[in-house]
Amino acid sequence: MILILKENVDKGSQELNRIYEFLENFPGLNIRIVELTGETRTVREIHLIGPTHNVPEEVLSAMRGVERVVRVSTKYRQIGRHDINFVPVGFNYNGVKFDQDGMNIFAGPCAVDTPEYVEQTFSILKDLGIETARMGAYKPRTSPYDFQGHGAKCLPWVFELAGKYDIKVIAMEVLREVHIEEILNALEDAGNPTGVMLQIGTRNAQNFELLKAVGSQTKLPVLYKRGMGLTIEESLNACEYIASEGNRNIVFCLRGIKTSMSAPHRNMVDFIHVPVIQRLTRLPVCIDPSHSIGSKDRAPNGLMDIFSAAAQGVIAGANMILVECHPEPEKALCDGHQSLTPRELELFVNDVAIAREAFEKRANTYSQEMLREMSQ
Ligand code: PEP
Ligand code: MN
Repeated sequence: MILILKENVDKGSQELNRIYEFLENFPGLNIRIVELTGETRTVREIHLIGPTHNVPEEVLSAMRGVERVVRVSTKYRQIGRHDINFVPVGFNYNGVKFDQDGMNIFAGPCAVDTPEYVEQTFSILKDLGIETARMGAYKPRTSPYDFQGHGAKCLPWVFELAGKYDIKVIAMEVLREVHIEEILNALEDAGNPTGVMLQIGTRNAQNFELLKAVGSQTKLPVLYKRGMGLTIEESLNACEYIASEGNRNIVFCLRGIKTSMSAPHRNMVDFIHVPVIQRLTRLPVCIDPSHSIGSKDRAPNGLMDIFSAAAQGVIAGANMILVECHPEPEKALCDGHQSLTPRELELFVNDVAIAREAFEKRANTYSQEMLREMSQ
Protein backbone atom coordinates (compact mmCIF):
# COMPACT_ATOMS: atom_id res chain seq x y z
CA MET A 1 0.00 0.00 0.00
CA ILE A 2 1.26 3.50 -0.82
CA LEU A 3 0.13 6.68 0.91
CA ILE A 4 0.84 9.69 -1.25
CA LEU A 5 1.22 12.70 1.03
CA LYS A 6 0.05 16.24 0.40
CA GLU A 7 2.69 18.68 -0.79
CA ASN A 8 3.28 20.48 2.53
CA VAL A 9 3.64 17.37 4.69
CA ASP A 10 7.28 17.26 5.77
CA LYS A 11 9.24 14.91 7.98
CA GLY A 12 8.47 15.73 11.61
CA SER A 13 5.15 17.43 10.80
CA GLN A 14 2.11 16.85 13.01
CA GLU A 15 0.21 15.19 10.17
CA LEU A 16 3.00 12.70 9.54
CA ASN A 17 3.33 11.90 13.26
CA ARG A 18 -0.43 11.17 13.46
CA ILE A 19 -0.21 8.85 10.45
CA TYR A 20 2.71 6.98 12.06
CA GLU A 21 0.80 6.70 15.36
CA PHE A 22 -2.18 5.25 13.55
CA LEU A 23 -0.01 2.75 11.69
CA GLU A 24 1.42 1.49 15.00
CA ASN A 25 -1.92 -0.30 15.47
CA PHE A 26 -0.92 -2.74 12.73
CA PRO A 27 1.97 -4.96 13.83
CA GLY A 28 4.37 -6.43 11.27
CA LEU A 29 4.17 -3.52 8.85
CA ASN A 30 7.42 -2.36 7.30
CA ILE A 31 7.03 1.43 6.91
CA ARG A 32 9.28 3.31 4.51
CA ILE A 33 9.17 6.95 3.46
CA VAL A 34 10.13 7.59 -0.17
CA GLU A 35 10.83 11.03 -1.69
CA LEU A 36 10.54 11.65 -5.43
CA THR A 37 11.89 14.99 -6.57
CA GLY A 38 10.49 16.28 -9.85
CA GLU A 39 10.85 19.59 -11.66
CA THR A 40 8.04 21.42 -9.88
CA ARG A 41 7.50 19.50 -6.66
CA THR A 42 8.69 16.76 -4.36
CA VAL A 43 6.27 13.93 -3.77
CA ARG A 44 6.56 12.11 -0.45
CA GLU A 45 5.08 8.67 -0.12
CA ILE A 46 4.77 6.20 2.72
CA HIS A 47 5.26 2.64 1.50
CA LEU A 48 3.66 -0.06 3.63
CA ILE A 49 4.99 -3.54 3.05
CA GLY A 50 3.73 -6.68 4.79
CA PRO A 51 0.27 -7.49 6.16
CA THR A 52 -1.69 -4.49 4.86
CA HIS A 53 -5.03 -6.31 4.41
CA ASN A 54 -6.31 -5.02 7.78
CA VAL A 55 -5.22 -1.43 7.20
CA PRO A 56 -8.40 0.53 6.45
CA GLU A 57 -7.97 2.49 3.24
CA GLU A 58 -10.93 4.82 3.96
CA VAL A 59 -9.59 5.90 7.36
CA LEU A 60 -6.14 6.62 5.97
CA SER A 61 -7.58 8.47 2.95
CA ALA A 62 -9.48 10.76 5.31
CA MET A 63 -6.45 11.61 7.48
CA ARG A 64 -4.98 15.09 7.25
CA GLY A 65 -1.91 15.17 5.07
CA VAL A 66 -2.91 12.22 2.89
CA GLU A 67 -3.57 13.02 -0.76
CA ARG A 68 -4.35 9.52 -1.93
CA VAL A 69 -4.06 5.89 -0.88
CA VAL A 70 -3.09 3.38 -3.52
CA ARG A 71 -3.43 -0.38 -3.09
CA VAL A 72 -0.34 -1.76 -4.73
CA SER A 73 -0.38 -4.93 -6.73
CA THR A 74 2.65 -7.03 -5.83
CA LYS A 75 3.83 -6.62 -9.41
CA TYR A 76 6.06 -3.59 -10.04
CA ARG A 77 5.74 -2.37 -6.47
CA GLN A 78 8.28 0.43 -6.97
CA ILE A 79 8.03 1.37 -10.62
CA GLY A 80 4.32 0.66 -11.10
CA ARG A 81 1.79 3.38 -11.69
CA HIS A 82 -0.83 1.37 -9.75
CA ASP A 83 -3.53 3.91 -10.51
CA ILE A 84 -4.08 5.41 -13.95
CA ASN A 85 -4.94 8.79 -12.37
CA PHE A 86 -1.64 8.98 -10.52
CA VAL A 87 0.62 11.55 -12.16
CA PRO A 88 4.28 10.51 -11.99
CA VAL A 89 6.74 13.31 -11.18
CA GLY A 90 9.72 11.98 -13.14
CA PHE A 91 13.16 13.21 -12.13
CA ASN A 92 15.78 15.84 -12.82
CA TYR A 93 19.36 14.98 -13.47
CA ASN A 94 22.11 17.52 -14.04
CA GLY A 95 19.59 20.14 -15.17
CA VAL A 96 17.71 17.82 -17.56
CA LYS A 97 14.15 16.77 -16.88
CA PHE A 98 13.00 13.20 -17.48
CA ASP A 99 9.30 12.39 -17.20
CA GLN A 100 6.37 11.00 -19.16
CA ASP A 101 5.61 14.40 -20.73
CA GLY A 102 8.96 15.56 -22.09
CA MET A 103 11.18 14.59 -25.00
CA ASN A 104 14.99 14.44 -25.07
CA ILE A 105 17.18 13.35 -27.99
CA PHE A 106 20.40 11.52 -27.05
CA ALA A 107 22.57 11.37 -30.19
CA GLY A 108 26.12 10.22 -30.79
CA PRO A 109 28.32 7.39 -31.98
CA CYS A 110 27.80 3.80 -30.94
CA ALA A 111 31.27 3.82 -29.37
CA VAL A 112 33.80 6.44 -28.35
CA ASP A 113 36.60 6.36 -30.93
CA THR A 114 38.89 9.38 -31.40
CA PRO A 115 38.95 12.68 -29.47
CA GLU A 116 38.51 14.51 -32.81
CA TYR A 117 35.30 12.65 -33.69
CA VAL A 118 33.95 12.96 -30.15
CA GLU A 119 34.64 16.71 -30.14
CA GLN A 120 33.01 17.12 -33.57
CA THR A 121 29.97 15.16 -32.35
CA PHE A 122 29.52 17.38 -29.27
CA SER A 123 29.96 20.49 -31.37
CA ILE A 124 27.29 19.31 -33.87
CA LEU A 125 24.91 18.58 -30.98
CA LYS A 126 25.51 22.03 -29.49
CA ASP A 127 24.74 23.66 -32.86
CA LEU A 128 21.46 21.71 -32.95
CA GLY A 129 20.60 22.80 -29.40
CA ILE A 130 20.94 19.25 -28.03
CA GLU A 131 22.44 18.81 -24.54
CA THR A 132 22.24 15.03 -24.32
CA ALA A 133 24.50 12.50 -26.02
CA ARG A 134 25.08 8.77 -26.32
CA MET A 135 28.39 6.92 -26.66
CA GLY A 136 29.82 3.76 -25.22
CA ALA A 137 33.23 3.31 -23.65
CA TYR A 138 32.52 -0.34 -22.83
CA LYS A 139 30.99 -2.26 -25.74
CA PRO A 140 29.51 -5.75 -25.67
CA ARG A 141 30.24 -7.23 -29.12
CA THR A 142 28.97 -10.39 -30.73
CA SER A 143 32.44 -11.33 -31.98
CA PRO A 144 35.39 -11.34 -29.55
CA TYR A 145 37.55 -9.97 -32.39
CA ASP A 146 35.56 -6.73 -32.77
CA PHE A 147 36.38 -3.39 -31.11
CA GLN A 148 35.17 -3.50 -27.50
CA GLY A 149 35.53 0.15 -26.60
CA HIS A 150 38.38 2.15 -25.10
CA GLY A 151 37.18 1.51 -21.54
CA ALA A 152 38.03 3.73 -18.58
CA LYS A 153 41.01 5.39 -20.25
CA CYS A 154 38.87 7.50 -22.59
CA LEU A 155 36.57 8.79 -19.83
CA PRO A 156 38.67 11.83 -18.74
CA TRP A 157 38.83 13.39 -22.21
CA VAL A 158 35.27 12.42 -23.13
CA PHE A 159 33.91 14.15 -19.99
CA GLU A 160 36.14 17.19 -20.45
CA LEU A 161 35.00 17.63 -24.06
CA ALA A 162 31.36 17.13 -23.06
CA GLY A 163 31.72 19.97 -20.56
CA LYS A 164 33.31 22.20 -23.20
CA TYR A 165 30.19 21.87 -25.39
CA ASP A 166 27.62 22.04 -22.56
CA ILE A 167 26.55 18.43 -22.88
CA LYS A 168 24.61 17.71 -19.69
CA VAL A 169 24.10 13.95 -19.85
CA ILE A 170 25.80 11.11 -21.76
CA ALA A 171 24.09 7.70 -21.97
CA MET A 172 26.89 5.18 -21.50
CA GLU A 173 26.62 1.42 -21.23
CA VAL A 174 28.14 -0.49 -18.31
CA LEU A 175 28.89 -4.20 -18.46
CA ARG A 176 30.29 -4.84 -14.99
CA GLU A 177 29.91 -3.34 -11.55
CA VAL A 178 33.44 -1.91 -11.64
CA HIS A 179 32.49 0.26 -14.65
CA ILE A 180 30.09 2.24 -12.44
CA GLU A 181 32.94 3.02 -10.06
CA GLU A 182 35.23 3.98 -12.96
CA ILE A 183 32.62 6.40 -14.36
CA LEU A 184 31.91 7.96 -10.96
CA ASN A 185 35.63 8.42 -10.26
CA ALA A 186 36.32 9.89 -13.71
CA LEU A 187 33.41 12.33 -13.36
CA GLU A 188 34.66 13.46 -9.97
CA ASP A 189 38.30 13.74 -11.08
CA ALA A 190 37.20 15.90 -14.03
CA GLY A 191 35.15 18.14 -11.68
CA ASN A 192 31.75 16.86 -12.92
CA PRO A 193 31.72 18.81 -16.21
CA THR A 194 28.86 16.58 -17.44
CA GLY A 195 26.62 13.76 -16.20
CA VAL A 196 26.18 10.10 -17.13
CA MET A 197 23.09 7.96 -17.48
CA LEU A 198 24.16 4.36 -16.92
CA GLN A 199 22.92 2.18 -19.73
CA ILE A 200 21.99 -1.46 -19.22
CA GLY A 201 22.21 -2.98 -22.68
CA THR A 202 19.82 -5.56 -24.05
CA ARG A 203 22.42 -8.29 -23.54
CA ASN A 204 22.46 -7.63 -19.80
CA ALA A 205 18.72 -7.13 -19.45
CA GLN A 206 18.51 -10.01 -16.95
CA ASN A 207 21.96 -9.74 -15.40
CA PHE A 208 20.47 -9.40 -11.94
CA GLU A 209 23.73 -8.66 -10.15
CA LEU A 210 24.46 -5.78 -12.55
CA LEU A 211 20.88 -4.52 -12.17
CA LYS A 212 21.31 -4.53 -8.40
CA ALA A 213 24.63 -2.72 -8.75
CA VAL A 214 23.19 0.19 -10.79
CA GLY A 215 20.18 0.23 -8.46
CA SER A 216 22.15 0.44 -5.25
CA GLN A 217 23.75 3.77 -6.18
CA THR A 218 21.65 6.88 -6.58
CA LYS A 219 24.13 9.36 -8.07
CA LEU A 220 23.51 8.32 -11.67
CA PRO A 221 20.18 7.54 -13.37
CA VAL A 222 19.72 4.36 -15.36
CA LEU A 223 18.64 3.74 -18.94
CA TYR A 224 17.33 0.18 -19.06
CA LYS A 225 17.09 -1.37 -22.54
CA ARG A 226 14.44 -4.02 -23.04
CA GLY A 227 15.81 -7.54 -23.38
CA MET A 228 15.82 -8.45 -27.08
CA GLY A 229 14.02 -11.71 -26.30
CA LEU A 230 12.17 -10.73 -23.16
CA THR A 231 8.51 -9.99 -22.64
CA ILE A 232 7.50 -6.59 -21.34
CA GLU A 233 6.71 -8.23 -18.00
CA GLU A 234 10.19 -9.76 -17.72
CA SER A 235 11.87 -6.48 -18.63
CA LEU A 236 9.74 -4.50 -16.17
CA ASN A 237 10.63 -6.97 -13.44
CA ALA A 238 14.27 -6.30 -14.27
CA CYS A 239 13.62 -2.55 -13.75
CA GLU A 240 11.95 -3.42 -10.47
CA TYR A 241 15.28 -5.01 -9.43
CA ILE A 242 16.96 -1.64 -10.03
CA ALA A 243 14.27 0.35 -8.20
CA SER A 244 13.99 -2.04 -5.27
CA GLU A 245 17.67 -1.44 -4.51
CA GLY A 246 16.93 2.28 -4.05
CA ASN A 247 17.43 3.96 -7.44
CA ARG A 248 14.12 4.96 -8.99
CA ASN A 249 15.57 7.31 -11.59
CA ILE A 250 15.07 4.90 -14.45
CA VAL A 251 14.17 5.38 -18.12
CA PHE A 252 12.81 2.34 -19.96
CA CYS A 253 14.09 1.95 -23.53
CA LEU A 254 12.39 0.04 -26.34
CA ARG A 255 14.96 -1.08 -28.93
CA GLY A 256 13.17 -3.74 -30.95
CA ILE A 257 12.94 -7.47 -30.36
CA LYS A 258 14.93 -10.19 -32.07
CA THR A 259 13.13 -12.29 -34.64
CA SER A 260 13.92 -13.27 -38.22
CA MET A 261 10.44 -11.95 -39.07
CA SER A 262 11.83 -8.43 -38.76
CA ALA A 263 14.03 -8.83 -41.87
CA PRO A 264 15.30 -6.72 -43.53
CA HIS A 265 15.36 -4.74 -40.27
CA ARG A 266 17.77 -5.72 -37.50
CA ASN A 267 14.94 -6.11 -34.96
CA MET A 268 11.15 -5.93 -34.91
CA VAL A 269 10.16 -2.39 -33.98
CA ASP A 270 8.14 -2.47 -30.74
CA PHE A 271 7.38 1.23 -30.27
CA ILE A 272 3.63 0.68 -29.86
CA HIS A 273 4.68 -0.45 -26.37
CA VAL A 274 5.42 3.22 -25.49
CA PRO A 275 1.88 3.81 -24.12
CA VAL A 276 1.90 0.35 -22.53
CA ILE A 277 4.96 1.17 -20.40
CA GLN A 278 3.52 4.61 -19.61
CA ARG A 279 0.27 3.22 -18.26
CA LEU A 280 1.85 0.33 -16.36
CA THR A 281 4.68 2.32 -14.78
CA ARG A 282 5.87 5.75 -13.73
CA LEU A 283 8.91 5.51 -16.01
CA PRO A 284 9.71 7.85 -18.90
CA VAL A 285 10.00 5.81 -22.11
CA CYS A 286 12.88 5.96 -24.60
CA ILE A 287 12.98 4.52 -28.12
CA ASP A 288 16.08 3.45 -30.04
CA PRO A 289 15.33 3.49 -33.79
CA SER A 290 19.01 2.87 -34.70
CA HIS A 291 19.29 -0.60 -33.16
CA SER A 292 15.69 -1.44 -34.07
CA ILE A 293 16.21 -0.81 -37.80
CA GLY A 294 19.95 -1.40 -38.19
CA SER A 295 20.39 0.18 -41.63
CA LYS A 296 20.05 3.48 -43.44
CA ASP A 297 17.62 2.19 -46.08
CA ARG A 298 15.09 4.70 -47.36
CA ALA A 299 11.56 4.74 -48.70
CA PRO A 300 11.10 6.03 -52.28
CA ASN A 301 10.15 9.41 -50.77
CA GLY A 302 13.64 9.65 -49.23
CA LEU A 303 12.70 9.07 -45.60
CA MET A 304 14.97 6.57 -43.87
CA ASP A 305 13.29 3.68 -42.05
CA ILE A 306 15.13 4.97 -38.93
CA PHE A 307 13.17 8.23 -39.25
CA SER A 308 9.85 6.43 -39.76
CA ALA A 309 10.44 4.12 -36.80
CA ALA A 310 11.32 7.10 -34.59
CA ALA A 311 8.21 8.91 -35.81
CA GLN A 312 6.08 5.91 -34.75
CA GLY A 313 7.49 6.10 -31.23
CA VAL A 314 7.29 9.89 -30.97
CA ILE A 315 3.73 10.08 -32.28
CA ALA A 316 2.83 7.52 -29.59
CA GLY A 317 4.35 9.77 -26.87
CA ALA A 318 7.96 8.62 -26.42
CA ASN A 319 9.97 10.73 -23.95
CA MET A 320 13.48 10.11 -25.17
CA ILE A 321 15.28 8.96 -28.32
CA LEU A 322 18.62 7.23 -28.53
CA VAL A 323 20.04 7.66 -32.03
CA GLU A 324 23.43 6.86 -33.50
CA CYS A 325 25.33 9.45 -35.53
CA HIS A 326 28.96 9.98 -36.46
CA PRO A 327 30.88 12.78 -38.21
CA GLU A 328 32.14 10.18 -40.74
CA PRO A 329 30.01 7.02 -40.35
CA GLU A 330 32.13 5.00 -42.78
CA LYS A 331 35.08 5.39 -40.39
CA ALA A 332 33.16 4.54 -37.17
CA LEU A 333 34.55 1.59 -35.22
CA CYS A 334 31.09 0.25 -34.43
CA ASP A 335 27.66 0.41 -36.14
CA GLY A 336 28.74 2.94 -38.79
CA HIS A 337 26.24 1.38 -41.24
CA GLN A 338 23.33 2.65 -39.11
CA SER A 339 24.86 5.94 -37.95
CA LEU A 340 23.50 9.23 -39.31
CA THR A 341 25.81 11.84 -40.82
CA PRO A 342 25.65 15.36 -39.30
CA ARG A 343 23.32 16.50 -42.12
CA GLU A 344 21.10 13.44 -41.65
CA LEU A 345 20.96 14.12 -37.92
CA GLU A 346 19.75 17.65 -38.61
CA LEU A 347 16.98 16.26 -40.85
CA PHE A 348 16.18 13.65 -38.20
CA VAL A 349 15.76 16.33 -35.52
CA ASN A 350 13.35 18.21 -37.83
CA ASP A 351 11.40 15.04 -38.54
CA VAL A 352 11.12 14.29 -34.80
CA ALA A 353 9.73 17.81 -34.25
CA ILE A 354 7.00 17.13 -36.85
CA ALA A 355 6.03 13.84 -35.15
CA ARG A 356 6.14 15.47 -31.72
CA GLU A 357 3.79 18.25 -32.84
CA ALA A 358 1.39 15.63 -34.17
CA PHE A 359 1.61 13.75 -30.85
CA GLU A 360 0.85 16.93 -28.91
CA LYS A 361 -2.23 17.55 -31.02
CA ARG A 362 -3.35 13.93 -30.52
CA ALA A 363 -2.73 14.09 -26.77
CA ASN A 364 -5.05 17.09 -26.45
CA THR A 365 -8.01 15.23 -27.97
CA TYR A 366 -9.58 14.43 -24.62
CA SER A 367 -10.68 17.02 -22.06
CA GLN A 368 -10.26 16.31 -18.34
CA GLU A 369 -14.00 15.69 -18.16
CA MET A 370 -13.92 13.10 -20.95
CA LEU A 371 -10.96 11.39 -19.26
CA ARG A 372 -12.85 11.18 -15.97
CA GLU A 373 -15.84 9.67 -17.74
CA MET A 374 -13.66 7.10 -19.50
CA SER A 375 -11.93 6.01 -16.30
CA GLN A 376 -15.24 5.28 -14.54
C1 PEP B 1 23.77 0.57 -27.64
O1 PEP B 1 22.80 1.33 -27.48
O2 PEP B 1 24.92 0.96 -27.73
C2 PEP B 1 23.52 -0.89 -27.72
C3 PEP B 1 24.52 -1.76 -27.76
O3 PEP B 1 22.22 -1.21 -27.78
P1 PEP B 1 21.49 -2.59 -27.39
O4 PEP B 1 21.95 -2.97 -26.01
O5 PEP B 1 20.03 -2.21 -27.44
O6 PEP B 1 21.86 -3.59 -28.46
MN1 MN C 1 25.37 0.51 -31.73
